[in-house]
Amino acid sequence: MAGKIVKVSGPLVVAEGLSDANMADVVRLGDQKLIGEILNMTGDSASIQVYEETSGLGPGAEVTTTGVPLSVELGPGLLDNIYDGIQRPLREMYKIAGDTIKRGISVPSLDRTKKWDFTPTVRTGARVESGTIIGTVPETSAVLHKIMVPNGISGTVTDIKSGEFTVEETICTVRTDDGQEKEIQMLQRWPVRVGRPYSKKFAPDTPLCSGQRVIDTMFPIAKGGTAAVPGPFGSGKTMVQHALAKWSDVDVVVYIGCGERGNEMTDVLMEFPELQDPRTGEPLMKRTILIANTSDMPVAAREASIYTGITIAEYFRDMGYDVTVIADSTSRWAEALREMSGRLEEMPGEEGYPAYLASRLAQFYERAGCIECLGGDGRRGSLTAIGAVSPPGGDISEPVSQATMRIVKVFWGLDSALAYARHFPAINWLNSYSLYMDTLKPWYDQHFGKEYMINRDKAMSILQAEAELQEIVKLVGQDSISPEDRLTLETAKMIREDFLQQNAFFDIDNYSSYDRQAKMLRLIIKYDEKCREAIKNNAEITALFEIPARVKIGRAKSVPVETYPTEYAQIEEEMDKEIKDLYGGELL
Ligand code: ADP
Repeated sequence: MAGKIVKVSGPLVVAEGLSDANMADVVRLGDQKLIGEILNMTGDSASIQVYEETSGLGPGAEVTTTGVPLSVELGPGLLDNIYDGIQRPLREMYKIAGDTIKRGISVPSLDRTKKWDFTPTVRTGARVESGTIIGTVPETSAVLHKIMVPNGISGTVTDIKSGEFTVEETICTVRTDDGQEKEIQMLQRWPVRVGRPYSKKFAPDTPLCSGQRVIDTMFPIAKGGTAAVPGPFGSGKTMVQHALAKWSDVDVVVYIGCGERGNEMTDVLMEFPELQDPRTGEPLMKRTILIANTSDMPVAAREASIYTGITIAEYFRDMGYDVTVIADSTSRWAEALREMSGRLEEMPGEEGYPAYLASRLAQFYERAGCIECLGGDGRRGSLTAIGAVSPPGGDISEPVSQATMRIVKVFWGLDSALAYARHFPAINWLNSYSLYMDTLKPWYDQHFGKEYMINRDKAMSILQAEAELQEIVKLVGQDSISPEDRLTLETAKMIREDFLQQNAFFDIDNYSSYDRQAKMLRLIIKYDEKCREAIKNNAEITALFEIPARVKIGRAKSVPVETYPTEYAQIEEEMDKEIKDLYGGELL
């Protein structure tokens, strides 16, 4: 039975006579069959958020429920795709409708005609359960798509096919324990607002290698962890996220551009398809899914985009992959939430945001984690969630930043003063933090030796000491502090300029392996230690600062990848000799 619209207020529509509908159902409105979702129901009257422009829609127009909650389609064809917030494929829509997205067009999220090469991994007679991998499809050259038994089905395989199939063709038949025959296709659906199930959750224990020294060495994030990148405009937020999308050692990246300015999203859409995966040399899009929602698209679609993105990410996680979701920016998403809440005439909380802002944010980040997948084979997957926050005026005391900081475990605080001084990535080492330091330390110790993290801690304390010393220097001047303190200032400068700064536009330096990071940091810390020894033996401090090896440490980032281990070892030897020559110390 169709309901009737009684009120339209921007993206919010109120309709009556929907007694057969349920909360969270997807509905179709008017002649154009616009897509909407029921937010709440009182009796047979429903408040509906509409994912398309509502102009032209008026009281009296028909509303019908589809009876299903907002869901995404999962299966081969997701990768290398660009979707809007409710998983409509933008490239396909462009082919049909041209530049502007017309209302009411319905294009399936996954191509219905394309045939995929399905290779079974189970035989007839095998026992399967929800999550069991029954076959694979080489979806792109970078990712092998694993076809899993959909949730809620378990039993014995009575038929399994091999060959070329579309996502809707049956590839497997399972007889359930109560004797029903269930046909399985490659296409699955999942409601976006519900997290996909898994069998166990683990504490994250492996770092995500991003190749960015300030992240990997100073403030690492674990695979399966959560992080926020707050920062004012121009502080390099986009660059940090792109670096993470490009260089992270994960299998799949889902990039949700929710509500940034249109031209920024265009940059992403233009740039991403051209990027190459440094590990495979393949286009990066082969392991990427983009969700694009610019601020000129309806707010409701922006609100949904974050759930669409994370559900797709969970699906790849369930195959046993490491997946990263990058949401840019959660502030724009929260604004969409605020706008809908305002139209629903809910009681506003802080700065007009709804009272459930923090719990909604938590629901998003909570879907991150390291898990054992369903299916009984013990495979593990991880989902790392990284959210950008763009607080107005860069003031992180506002509700979205504050709520996010309470939830996430890593905080990379971008700083406009650093960006202004062209220190990039402009992550402020004094206010950023990673709560994974303790859990990840064993991993670093095991793979790169204990010295790496010891040096990291030393570097952090030198940077903190620098901040305090700078205050004193401002008052009394450089010359009146002790030689030891002057050395601290010099080492801190080296850590900042020669280690933390990393130019994204410089090919040799835009990615740094762990080994290289460890060796680079070691040079600086060794320089500090040896100079301290020399100062004790009355060496002249300015002479120590002028040794040729000091200049070479400054250039260590531009040493080619092939030769850095030998060159760094050589610099260390020269440094040792040059410092000891200054006070007659014994060479090692
Ligand atoms: P935001 O997204 O915060 O507005 P962007 O990420 O667009 O800022 O960065 C602004 C500018 O800062 C970039 O155009 C670039 O010139 C510079 N920049 C940021 N990060 C780096 C980096 N790692 N290396 C070199 N330049 C950078």
